Amino acid sequence: MKIDQVHKCPYCGYMYQVVLGQNTYSNLFSDPGGTVAVHSVIYVCPHIACGKVEVAVDAGSPPPRKGNSESERHKARYDLPNAFFSSRLLPSEACGKQEFNAPEVPEAVFRDYDEACRLLRCSPCASATYSRRCLQGMVRKKFKLKPGKFMNEIKTLSSMNGAARQEVIDALERARKIGKFRAMPDDDVKVLVDVSYDEAKQTIDVIEALLLDWFIAPAEQDRRIGALKAILEGKSS
Ligand SMILES: [Zn+2]
Repeated sequence: MKIDQVHKCPYCGYMYQVVLGQNTYSNLFSDPGGTVAVHSVIYVCPHIACGKVEVAVDAGSPPPRKGNSESERHKARYDLPNAFFSSRLLPSEACGKQEFNAPEVPEAVFRDYDEACRLLRCSPCASATYSRRCLQGMVRKKFKLKPGKFMNEIKTLSSMNGAARQEVIDALERARKIGKFRAMPDDDVKVLVDVSYDEAKQTIDVIEALLLDWFIAPAEQDRRIGALKAILEGKSS
């Protein structure tokens, strides 16, 4: 994985300057034959109230020794070529955020979201498929659409006045395309496009934003209105 100059602590959100040997420790080793290299990084949050440790590991081909410029070798040192494994061991990112495991979020929707998160590191393609299914379930639940093809459901949604903003429609359409082939190998899909980690992660970000917007926030508003009603009724009686 790349080590950026500025790192955000996943526990407390603190942004800090990465200083190797001070708050960030990295190790790279490979077998004598130079077949596989493993790269591990430990971050220690310098925020005084936090100080928690983050551990990330990835594996790929060893960085080239010859024939490249110093900067290219340096880049490969931290971003292994042909990476086939990449994971964060601490804190575990192997599941969806529990704040979405709420009564107002349909159980099947949370399950698909959770699965998409679990698959993100080991298989962005599989993750994107679950994300697509999750978003389709969300659209159906939220707008009470008759189940059909996701493409048509998005069209229906975009024709419903004021139901969803254009940015949301675009994001759904993007997620549909990214996860499409894996969900159902249509005959008309001839070219397999690889889904990158970033693309799959962005789709999960879309799910989280819409879960908040469509399910969590309205339920919160209902609760506030309910409390308001109770106050008014209490006063009138
Ligand atoms: Zn921290």
